Amino acid sequence: MSGASSLGRTTRLELDDSSLRAFEAVVLASDPEQGIVLDRSAFYPGGGGQPPDHGVLLWGGVQTRIVDARRRDDLWLVPLEGDPLPPVGTVLSGAIEDERRTALMRTHSGLHLLSGVVFRDFGALVTGSNMDPLSGRLDFNLDQVPEGFKEAVEAACNIEVSADRAISAYELSREEAFAIPDVIRTATNLLPASIEVVRLVDISGLDVQADGGTHVASTRQIGRLTVVKVENKGKGFRRIRVSLEG
Ligand SMILES: [Zn+2]
Repeated sequence: MSGASSLGRTTRLELDDSSLRAFEAVVLASDPEQGIVLDRSAFYPGGGGQPPDHGVLLWGGVQTRIVDARRRDDLWLVPLEGDPLPPVGTVLSGAIEDERRTALMRTHSGLHLLSGVVFRDFGALVTGSNMDPLSGRLDFNLDQVPEGFKEAVEAACNIEVSADRAISAYELSREEAFAIPDVIRTATNLLPASIEVVRLVDISGLDVQADGGTHVASTRQIGRLTVVKVENKGKGFRRIRVSLEG
């Protein structure tokens, strides 16, 4: 399925094509407090642990830098304070800051890969996550940490990076999605009953999750992954911190 992804009045281009970095759009709302609503946008607005994109809107010979986004009834892009606001009806060009978005896509995919590896090799389920460009952490429910755990996880992750497994995003009905064991396993938050179509991110043969983020196309694009630290945060609670090469 494609073209069905929207938030309020904004068609979300990045969900169908995570490689898109430039687009044309029309301003539907413009407010000094709230920000800017476009009819279409490739700015990832944040969610699922992935921070919002940064970038720029170009119009009438000026630029409006975008530094944040808010998900409300509409998708509001938040400009840098003091930058000019495009009036309603303006046709503009949007551009996503490539370095930040690409780093976040690699990091997000890297965390899914880590989740798949730690479940496959140690049977541990993810209980929380956080990410910044090129670093992130996952929390696992894991009672025992065997000798050499940190090194074993890092080695297994980098084998999966080298294996260049395809990463794809697609939509299934709720019923079809939750018939997949991996999807049930990774559903840390129960989806509201009103959601009938579930977007899945699938690392072929390793991990499938219900996910609304942007991802690289294959595990090799994640690049080498380093396990920085394994922290013991209490009974059965382990936090794994990872970083990626810049
Ligand atoms: Zn995710």
